[in-house]
Amino acid sequence: MNLQKTLLAAFAAGIFTIGAGHAQEPKPAVVVYATGGTIAGASKSNTDTTTYKAASLGVQALLEAVPELAQVAKVSGEQIANVGSNAIDQAILLRLAHAINIRLAEPSVHGAVVTHGTDTLEETAFFLDLTTASPKPVVVVGSMRPATAISADGPMNLLQAVTLAASKDAENRGVLIALNDRIGSAYYTTKTNTTAVDTFRATEQGYLGMFIGTVPKFYYSAATPVHKPHFNVEGVNSFPKVSIVYMHEDQDNEQIEAAIRAGAKGIVIAGTGNGSVPPDVKKRILELTEQGFPVVRSTRTGSGFATKKMEGIGSGALNPQKSRILLMLALSQSSDLPTIRRYFEE
Ligand code: ASP
Repeated sequence: MNLQKTLLAAFAAGIFTIGAGHAQEPKPAVVVYATGGTIAGASKSNTDTTTYKAASLGVQALLEAVPELAQVAKVSGEQIANVGSNAIDQAILLRLAHAINIRLAEPSVHGAVVTHGTDTLEETAFFLDLTTASPKPVVVVGSMRPATAISADGPMNLLQAVTLAASKDAENRGVLIALNDRIGSAYYTTKTNTTAVDTFRATEQGYLGMFIGTVPKFYYSAATPVHKPHFNVEGVNSFPKVSIVYMHEDQDNEQIEAAIRAGAKGIVIAGTGNGSVPPDVKKRILELTEQGFPVVRSTRTGSGFATKKMEGIGSGALNPQKSRILLMLALSQSSDLPTIRRYFEE
């Protein structure tokens, strides 16, 4: 028996006692939607944190690995997909949004948790933030180490996420991201490091709160991002294609033209600095703007505001990958450029 199991057995046998007993109350119902990722990943080696196989475990295995979940919520699981988050596509996003909207409309369901790979977690979380309608908590969670690793972070992250989704305090805050003891807003939070467990941050806006053990502590009362739009995706089956084009010194228009030829209905620029682009690219963006074709200018810097633009649209506080999601959703409602501009620049 390892040290952890020995100590837990000692607590269970009453050798140590923690606090007073609690009267049993009915637990809030939380639905866990599993999509795969490292949190469901496994490897032959317990020190392998880079070459493991993501999405190896199903939702039941994830839940059974954390029996403590039953102490905080009545948990049920649903497998939406089982993929690395590099393979999350529009169909999976829509399945998730539809499923969450239906279940959270049931009075008996208190909250939802989505388990997800961390690479594109912020995109799914942002998409759900703009497309789920309920004030009830929706928490997106992942892990940086697979389930088989020494100090795997997945079980604690999952327990914290379910505790958060079961909490009244988490209502009316939009979709939340819970990893590494921190609670972030899905609207602003981004992945900032390829391998470290403290990778999810919102550089400017900060965290909304943290966990003390498993107990969520918010720093502020409930609020949602200024001018956050909502999109009703009921009945929507697909979205127009939006491409991201990365800027650098000496960049030309080749990738913009290729994106348009491939069917893009909008383009997001990962601009240098405050959405800036080389002079020829600027000229081309002006032509496209005059034709009513949306080009959103974001920044490759990792943080800050891309301000209003004459040529194209300023992305505001949204990074390129979040801008792509918003432009895709905006285009699904309207192709009118002034309307699309308002979603970003208001
Ligand atoms: N490649 C994994 C994924 O995004 C990484 C992770 O989950 O941390 O699915």
